[in-house]
Amino acid sequence: MLRILCFKTLKLFSQLTHCLTTRHYERDITTNQGQEYFLKSNQSDQFNFILPKQVHGSKIQVVKNENLLLNKKQFEADAIITNQMNVWIGILVADCFPILMFEPSVNVIAVIHAGWRGVEQNIHLKALQCIIEFMNSSIKNIFIGIGPGIGSCCFEVGKEVSDKFEKRSITSAQFVHPISEQKAMVDLRGLIISDLVMAGVSLKNIENMNYCTSCFTDLFYSYRKEGKNTGRMLLAARLNESSQDDK
Ligand SMILES: [Zn+2]
Repeated sequence: MLRILCFKTLKLFSQLTHCLTTRHYERDITTNQGQEYFLKSNQSDQFNFILPKQVHGSKIQVVKNENLLLNKKQFEADAIITNQMNVWIGILVADCFPILMFEPSVNVIAVIHAGWRGVEQNIHLKALQCIIEFMNSSIKNIFIGIGPGIGSCCFEVGKEVSDKFEKRSITSAQFVHPISEQKAMVDLRGLIISDLVMAGVSLKNIENMNYCTSCFTDLFYSYRKEGKNTGRMLLAARLNESSQDDK
C-alpha cells in the first residue's frame, strides 16, 4: 500500500526533498508522536519542523531565519515560504489542495493549504507573488506540484459559495458548473491551474496529481466524505544543504 507520494518532476531536483503522506502512513501524522516519527525517519527533529495553525485564510508566513524555529509557539498561516536549508515546512490536508512551489535557481520553497476559502482569497497567487518578491526571481523559473484534493466530481456547493466564485473573476466563473437552482459543482483544481498559468507560470512546470480525495478514500482522507473526525495527509518539503548544481 502506498504510504507516501511525491511529485515526479520535483523529485528530480536533488536540492529538494518532499513527500505527501497517504492514509496508509504508519503513524497518525496529526499527532506529535506521528510528526516526530516522520522527522526521525527523515533524519530530522521537531526543532527543524514548521507546521502552522491553519485557519482557511490567505496569510503566508515567510521564514527567513531561525527565529520562528527557536520560538516554538505555533503561528496562524495557510502557507509557508522559506529559503532556509534543512528545515521541513508542512501543511495538513483532507480535500483541500496541497500545493508545493519550488524555485530552483534561488532555492526557495513554499507549501500551501488551498481550500475553497483560500483559493477564493487568492492564497496560491499571493504565495507565487511572495516567492518572486522575496527572492527577486522570475515566475518562469517556478515549478509547482498540485496534490490530491476534492475534484469537480464531488465538490458540490451551495449558492453562497458558488456566487463568490462567479463574482471573483470571469475565469473563475467558468469553473462553476450549476446542477440546480441552489447547487453547483466547483472545479477548484482547474481554477488553481488556470490562475497560475494566467499569472505567468509555464504549464509544463505544473505537475497535477489528478486524484479526487473524495473518490479515492482507499488512498486519501476526505473531510467531505468521511466527516470531521477523519485523518489528514501531510505535505512536507525541505531544502537540502548539499549539491545545488545537479538537477
Ligand atoms: Zn470525486
